[in-house]
Amino acid sequence: MSCKWTIGAWAAAWVLAGCAPAPETPAAAGTTGGAAQAAVATSGERALEEVRAFLDVGPRDAGTPGAERAATYLAERLRALGVEAEIQEFREPSPRGPETVFRNVLGRIPGRTDRIVLLGSHYDTKAGIPDFVGANDSGSSTGLLLELARAFAAAAPHETEIRFAFFDGEESQVEYGPTDGFHGSRHLARTLAADGRLSNVVAMIVLDMVGDRDLTLTIPRNCSPGLVAAAFAAARAEGGRKHFQLYPFNIGDDHVAFFERGVPTLNLIDFAFGSAPGRNDYWHTPADTLDKLSADSLDLVGRVVARLVAELPARREK
Ligand SMILES: [Zn+2]
Repeated sequence: MSCKWTIGAWAAAWVLAGCAPAPETPAAAGTTGGAAQAAVATSGERALEEVRAFLDVGPRDAGTPGAERAATYLAERLRALGVEAEIQEFREPSPRGPETVFRNVLGRIPGRTDRIVLLGSHYDTKAGIPDFVGANDSGSSTGLLLELARAFAAAAPHETEIRFAFFDGEESQVEYGPTDGFHGSRHLARTLAADGRLSNVVAMIVLDMVGDRDLTLTIPRNCSPGLVAAAFAAARAEGGRKHFQLYPFNIGDDHVAFFERGVPTLNLIDFAFGSAPGRNDYWHTPADTLDKLSADSLDLVGRVVARLVAELPARREK
C-alpha cells in the first residue's frame, strides 16, 4: 500500500483506506521448543527513573549533536545494565542534508536458540517545537526499554535471543516520506534482511508514548492479529485490559518497516495523550513533560511486554 506520509495525510489516507481484518483468537500461550521463557520482573519506578535520567541528556533531534549525545548515553547505559551494545551509524538523505548521520543503538542478550525477539523504541525528539523535552514521545518508551533490558538481562538466559533497538530519526523533519522519518527502523529492517536474520525474528514489538498517567494504548490496525490478540490476553492477565484498545486506523510508526516485510509485528502506542480522555493535544507540544507520566503506566506496559515475550509461541505467527 502506498501511503501519503504526512501524519495528517497519513491518518486521512489510512482513515480512508486503513481497514485491516479483525484480530483472530490469541495464539495459544506457548513454549519455545518445549522450555518456557524465564520470568522477567520489571519495575515502573525504575523505568520512570530511566526516563528522568535520559531526559537530562537534553533535546535529541536527529542529525544534531544532541542525538549523538543521546546515542552514546544509551550505549553506555545498556553496557552498565549488563547488555551487549553497539551503535549502528549510517548516513542517508534527509531534509537536513544529503548525508545526514543517524545512529541506532542496538542491544543484544544471546538466547538458547537463534530465534529473535526484537523490542524497539525511537529516542529522537521532534524538531522545531520550542522547549520540547519529549517526556512521553520518546522519553517514556526509551526509559521503559532500558528497564526491560535490565530485567531480561537479570533473568537470562532465555530461549530466544532478545534484541533492543533504540531508533534514530523516527520523527519527520518536514513531512513523512521516503527521505523523511522512520530512518532508523527502515535501516535496521534492511540490514537484518540483508544478513538473513530478519527471518529469525519471531516478534517485533515497538513501544511509543507509553507513560501517560491516563494510559490508553491505541493498538493500530497495521499490526499482526496474532500478536494483537496475545497483547490483549497478556493485558487481561496483568489486570490492565481496560488500558488497551484496538485503534480503528493504521498508524505510521517504526513497526511499519518490519510489518511490511512480513515480520510478526506489534505497535504499543498511546495516541490519546492529552488533557482529557480521547484527546491527543499534548502530542508534539511543550506540554509533553515528565509530570504527565506515571510509574504505574510504565509498570503495566512493562509487565504486559514481559508476559507477552514469555508466552510467545515456538514459531512465527501471522
Ligand atoms: Zn513523535
